[in-house]
Amino acid sequence: MKARAYDPYYNAKPRVPIEPPPEDPATPAMTKDRQSADGKNAPGFPPGARVAVRLPLPLTDAYDYRVPAGLTLAAGDFVRVPLGPRRMAGVVWGPGTGDVPDAKMKEVAGRLDVPPMTAEARTFIDWVADYTLNPPGAVLRMALSVPEALEPPKPLTAYRPAVPQPEIKMTPTRDRVLAAAADGPPRQAAELARAAGVTPAVVTGLAKVGGLTACPIPAFPPPPAPDLDRPGPNLSAEQAAAADALSAAVHDGFSVQVLEGVPGSGKTEVYLQAVAEAVARGRQVLVLLPEIALSAQWLERFQARFGGEPALWHSEVTQAQKRETWRHVALGQADVVVGARSALFLPFRDLGLIIIDEEHDGSFKQEEGVVYNARDMAVVRAQMGRIPVVLVSATPSLETQANVDRGRYVHLHLPARHGGADLPDVELVNMTKTPPQRGQWLSPPLREAVTATLERGEQALLFLNRRGYAPLTLCRTCGHRLQCPQCTAWLVEHRLLQRLQCHHCGYQMAPPHTCPGCGAEDSMVPCGPGVERLEEEVRALYPDARIAMATSDNLYNQRTARDFVHRIEAHEVDLIIGTQIVAKGYHFPLLTLVGVVDADLGLSGGDLRAAERTYQLLYQVAGRAGRADRPGRVLIQTFMPEHPVMDAILKGDRAAFLTAEAKGREEAHMPPYGRLVGVIVSGTDEAAVDAGARALGRAAPKGADIQVLGPAPAPLAMIRGRHRRRLLLKAGRGTAVQPLVRAWIARAQIPKKVRVQIDVDPYSFM
Ligand code: ADP
Ligand code: ZN
Repeated sequence: MKARAYDPYYNAKPRVPIEPPPEDPATPAMTKDRQSADGKNAPGFPPGARVAVRLPLPLTDAYDYRVPAGLTLAAGDFVRVPLGPRRMAGVVWGPGTGDVPDAKMKEVAGRLDVPPMTAEARTFIDWVADYTLNPPGAVLRMALSVPEALEPPKPLTAYRPAVPQPEIKMTPTRDRVLAAAADGPPRQAAELARAAGVTPAVVTGLAKVGGLTACPIPAFPPPPAPDLDRPGPNLSAEQAAAADALSAAVHDGFSVQVLEGVPGSGKTEVYLQAVAEAVARGRQVLVLLPEIALSAQWLERFQARFGGEPALWHSEVTQAQKRETWRHVALGQADVVVGARSALFLPFRDLGLIIIDEEHDGSFKQEEGVVYNARDMAVVRAQMGRIPVVLVSATPSLETQANVDRGRYVHLHLPARHGGADLPDVELVNMTKTPPQRGQWLSPPLREAVTATLERGEQALLFLNRRGYAPLTLCRTCGHRLQCPQCTAWLVEHRLLQRLQCHHCGYQMAPPHTCPGCGAEDSMVPCGPGVERLEEEVRALYPDARIAMATSDNLYNQRTARDFVHRIEAHEVDLIIGTQIVAKGYHFPLLTLVGVVDADLGLSGGDLRAAERTYQLLYQVAGRAGRADRPGRVLIQTFMPEHPVMDAILKGDRAAFLTAEAKGREEAHMPPYGRLVGVIVSGTDEAAVDAGARALGRAAPKGADIQVLGPAPAPLAMIRGRHRRRLLLKAGRGTAVQPLVRAWIARAQIPKKVRVQIDVDPYSFM
């Protein structure tokens, strides 16, 4: 294994807390000099030379190609190369390795007209591959997720007035077109026709005779440069201190800054200041947000602050737009990119700052394909680019907290809510003492609180982290439970859709009238609440209240999220019923009551982070209440009022909770005080999967500090018809787990049709 770069979990020897990134002999040495990052100073490969080209395929090695006559290539250049019968785009990774005989070597077909991939981006790709135990080509594929972006875009045809020519026969409609064209930028025929009030044929007809000149315009122009002259808000002394520290860090190479502060303390305002600072220095900024597709309020604030939208990168962005955004990023035409985790692999020309908002959020972990944690990899990326990364949260993860304690991360703290608004009062509702009526979910204290809130003309949020009507349907007669045929999961009733759905594979069926187990008629009953069932109860209790649902079933893109936000802000809604989708970031001044319907939901299952996550979620939800001048109130329904999580939330004693949680993890040698690697064996043939899992069990590495648990059936023992078994490697914090696991997998005799997925630093244990 190569020299180890910064590893968020690896802290073997305190005397070298942060080692420099590996010096890859195949890439130019990294310097602060931006020229070399462009590849301009990199050694050239003249015609006839061998170059190693990495392809966006799950391959470990780069392949050798010959540089053709008339072309000089440099490391980082995007090239097209022959691969079998087809051609494919790849990246020159460095000098050839010589493992293809001269006679068999093929020539590079040509260089693509995009700026070369920077040395730091290439080093990063190799590093992520090494760390996550994936072939580098699989990681490169994430960086080349829109291969069409490598081709120059097809511009649209727009028209502007030509030099007047007396021989053109003019008509009133043609006059109108010329007048419209003279008044504004070049536009496409349809748009110009609309402005002139004529048909598009008049426009194209006039162009044909020479009255208009066609000119190309980009289909997707780059986002506007942020307007840095707009004043930000007047920051409080504490906010200003944090903002100044971040702004200074922008000039100061690699660092990890943890920006902690209660919801509403102004963290966003503070880091936007650092964004402005980096942009003023001519550098690009990446902001990663969970659920970016839904972050309507965040985008509106960005727009208000900088006068335009940033470049966006997430699953809702169309391929056509992504293609252009990729190019804007590569060409340095996008100053600020806001995106989901995959934006980390965009080809930044000169990245100067990374912000990870809600750094504790689990959605930064990608669980499919290349399994990686974007927050952790962002820290590595920042180190390679010698730039700061800011981890923002009201409830930083234990991992981040441990790094603060070890002195590796800088801690910035915003103590109070902006304007002195208090954190809401939290009360626990003991569900054993004051239970709801049978078949209902709201306890008397919560009902009273909702009634009072609505009577005051304020808004309430009822939080239940369960989509659908009921999480389980069973037969009253024989007890048969409706299960997904392809997954180890109950089918969830969605009454609005009149479907039963599997939330793991998307399987659906109509609700059966007879029990599939015993044939009894009208015997199937829903068990437990989902948000739809809660809505039914609430509608009956408050027939006049205007209710809005907030789940991924009805908030699924920017438009629906924006509509939702505007309805709440305009007070067109009295009661919100939502899943974790409403827990994040929203700021509604009239929302003064938050009721958590089932606070215990996330605590079952024995997940390593169950308590931590529940605390974060409850804290986050509680933070939605009373964000303006009206005081907020939070009622939390629980059957476990004595649980440390509930106690910490009640007393607002985060420090005590963290200390206890950290102590427990430390004693168990669990992260961040130990290391874990999950190994998931899966396949459709159960016997082969078991054989593979057993083979891995037999080949397990041994050592004083090493333990392998399993194989055991995964909690989700089957997904989409694939059987799953899990093993878990547990090692001391100082252990470099990658070489161990690599050797382990290589040693084990695993049947061919069985897939082995490796999850370094697992977040999910399902
Ligand atoms: P956080 O990100 O910590 O939740 P925000 O940055 O979203 O906090 O701030 C909460 C609200 O307070 C926002 O509406 C924001 O515009 C406002 N705010 C924060 N700081 C200031 C300030 N110094 N002056 C004016 N408004 C502020
Ligand atoms: Zn399923």
